[in-house]
Amino acid sequence: MKVSFPHMGNAYIALSALLSNLGAEVIIPPRPTQKTIEMGALHAPEFVCLPFKVNLGDNFQALSMGADTLAMVSGTWACRFGYYGRVQHQILRDAGFEFDSILLGRDGVGTVYNKFADTVDGNLALGWLRAFRSFRSKARAVDALEASAREVRPFERERGSTSDALSRSLSVVHESPSVKATGSALDRGMELMDAVEVERRGEPLHIAVLGEIYAVLEPSLNFDIERRLGEMGVVAHPVMSIYKWLFRPLKTDPSILVEERRARRVARPYIPYVLGGEEHQTITGTIDAARKRYDGVIHVFPFTCMPESVCRAILPRIEKEYDIPVLNLCLDEHASPTGIETRLEAFTDLLRQRRRKKPR
Ligand code: SF4
Repeated sequence: MKVSFPHMGNAYIALSALLSNLGAEVIIPPRPTQKTIEMGALHAPEFVCLPFKVNLGDNFQALSMGADTLAMVSGTWACRFGYYGRVQHQILRDAGFEFDSILLGRDGVGTVYNKFADTVDGNLALGWLRAFRSFRSKARAVDALEASAREVRPFERERGSTSDALSRSLSVVHESPSVKATGSALDRGMELMDAVEVERRGEPLHIAVLGEIYAVLEPSLNFDIERRLGEMGVVAHPVMSIYKWLFRPLKTDPSILVEERRARRVARPYIPYVLGGEEHQTITGTIDAARKRYDGVIHVFPFTCMPESVCRAILPRIEKEYDIPVLNLCLDEHASPTGIETRLEAFTDLLRQRRRKKPR
């Protein structure tokens, strides 16, 4: 079985560990580029949200690289994400590709579990257990390394040295063959992060980055906003992470469930119902940013994203009530890195002026 899945930040590291431990050959498409987006946009409905187009482009590339099975989360979300898998796979079949689908959430646990009965080496249950442990340890390692990079980058002496260390650390984690080896790879990665030369330059700006999850976590979509902010001397605080995204639907980590329940409670005065996206994290994340005395909030979302367009209409009220500046970045396939860079520079200049008048 040659399985592939679309990109979402560095989630491919944990997902490859899961699938390879189940005996599948994992085909990882190249990181999304403008070409990926164009390929997806060519075949996608015009007004579908941007992540759909990028995911579709990834799937096209994976099938061209020889994948015979495509995996995707599916279900009955209120937003369009629940239909992504089914619609994308239909588009790909209409385009002439033949492949098998794994639609997690639609296929049922038993179907997905038994799909690997022929590929797992030895007992199937033990194979799943091994795969899950490896999946979890890699997802945690990725989160820890990304968090460390976020703290170091605003102080790096040589621009790009943190990103280099992070990419080397992530490769070591990706290549680690067992849970124990992942632990050692994480230690090695942390050593690489610690070895980045830094210089203290006073208190940096702190900015919460929130919004639609794919737009927050996928650097090719948001023009690597975390790296850009870090290199401008800003500590970025993304509200979501790869680990939370992967483990939220599995409901195996109580801390994620508690956090989610709290997000819904805090956001209730503004948004008392579920829209199916990250609307509660967006509203609560903005309120939390003000309470933690961050300097500002960047709200990123794809054009035509339903839950985040609703949040976009609510955020000006929170901005006023909690006195925290919010920058809204709406992304589509025509967004350019220069446009984003200019807006980030203008926003951070404004926050620095504000900080001078009103110390943190
Ligand atoms: S959250 Fe928004 S961008 Fe993401 S799938 Fe739903 S509608 Fe599309």
